[in-house]
Amino acid sequence: LDTQLQGNSRASTPKSVSTAPNVITREFLFDYLVVGAGFSGSVIAERLASQSGKKVLVVDKRTHIGGNAYDHYDDHGVLVHKYGPHIFHTNSREVFEHLSQFTQWRSYEHRVLASVDGQLVPMPINLDTINQLYGMNLTSFQVEEFFQSVAEPREHIRTSEDVVVSKVGRELYEKFFRNYTRKQWGLDPSELDKSVTARVPTRTNRDNRYFTDSYQAMPLHGFTRMFENMLNHPNIKVMLNTDYREIQKAIPCREIVYTGPVDEFFDYRYGKLPYRSLDFKHETHNTPKFQQAPVINYPNDQLYTRVTEFKYLTGQEHSKTSIVYEFPKAEGDPYYPVPRLENQEIYKQYKALADETSGVYFVGRLATYKYLNMDHCVAQALAMYKQIAVKTF
Ligand code: FAD
Ligand code: UDP
Repeated sequence: LDTQLQGNSRASTPKSVSTAPNVITREFLFDYLVVGAGFSGSVIAERLASQSGKKVLVVDKRTHIGGNAYDHYDDHGVLVHKYGPHIFHTNSREVFEHLSQFTQWRSYEHRVLASVDGQLVPMPINLDTINQLYGMNLTSFQVEEFFQSVAEPREHIRTSEDVVVSKVGRELYEKFFRNYTRKQWGLDPSELDKSVTARVPTRTNRDNRYFTDSYQAMPLHGFTRMFENMLNHPNIKVMLNTDYREIQKAIPCREIVYTGPVDEFFDYRYGKLPYRSLDFKHETHNTPKFQQAPVINYPNDQLYTRVTEFKYLTGQEHSKTSIVYEFPKAEGDPYYPVPRLENQEIYKQYKALADETSGVYFVGRLATYKYLNMDHCVAQALAMYKQIAVKTF
């Protein structure tokens, strides 16, 4: 795709104007350059434009808006998520109401099965998982006792191994977590911060939802449509297929909001921060339904971690169905910051540098090197907007 400059106002060549003897001030075409059109960049761009009347240029090196949450209709007309399954869930009323200005919703509660010992069982581990796996008929009370009997007490919970082993013991840890985590991160759970596997709870009841947040819904017409509505403002122009460094000098902007990888911004001065990447293998099958659940996790047997069937997520009706396999890898597009102490130490150095860099605000999953969900990015962007507004306007 060619570079696209979309929007209502027309850009002109930057000028230097002299307002007083020996004082040269530049006339800025835009107040803000927002690098990245994902959740973080789009949310803040919209606020700056609509609430503060600022002129905003949003630049993304990809050929589309939406960042990793981008969705589109594939060649068969099935709505798919290009960068793997994105399920919206939040406990924040503010975040939900904010996004509701740009989309209607379809209620959706996510469910996952794990392929373990030749069976498909509910994940997160719950009462039914244990009964099915071991051919038992325990009650909630008994399964709690069972977990206590197999759990390995740990004085300090530091790693992703500690979290699981201290709750459900070594055997379940090995069946459900150890190999999945090794595959996903290229690291043993004992080498990862506890926050990683702590994302997945353990339950003694029969609740088989992946999330328990108070708001669980998908944008009715997809994520991309929601982003289009967010960015469709006369004060916002969107430039795609463009690395911001290509235009930074030619198009002067007063300040920058940066949502790309923080180490890249500073030319890897303190070394590379590891980001985990994925290969996505998309397929369409000539059948209305491919698998028994929206997502099936494969902790042990395959090179991929999970398989997602999009029609469950989107509610689309179609005679065919599209799925995606996720194959983790070290190099490639940065998708996941890797939460562990030594990376946090490197990030701290970049964070100090970022704090000293005036006129640039670092927001989002890559720029703050945090394993943020979409709703966290929205909350962070809204908070940053308020900070900018208080300071500047
Ligand atoms: P991004 O979406 O990564 O956007 C950053 C943008 O900056 C990119 O589009 C990039 O092209 C652009 N950029 C970077 N450098 C430059 C440059 N030099 N010049 C121009 N542009 C640049 N969250 C959930 O809440 N629920 C889920 O189910 C969920 N599932 C996920 C599944 C996968 C496989 C992945 C990878 C993530 C998932 N997430 C999920 C997390 C979610 O994707 C992120 O929280 C969110 O999309 C991050 O938004 P962002 O704007 O911070 O970053
Ligand atoms: N995890 C696991 N087995 C599973 C599901 C998750 O070991 O069946 C671990 C794994 O380390 C994974 C982490 O828990 O990276 C968080 O899982 P989540 O589903 O939240 O990952 P995401 O959707 O962010 O990729």
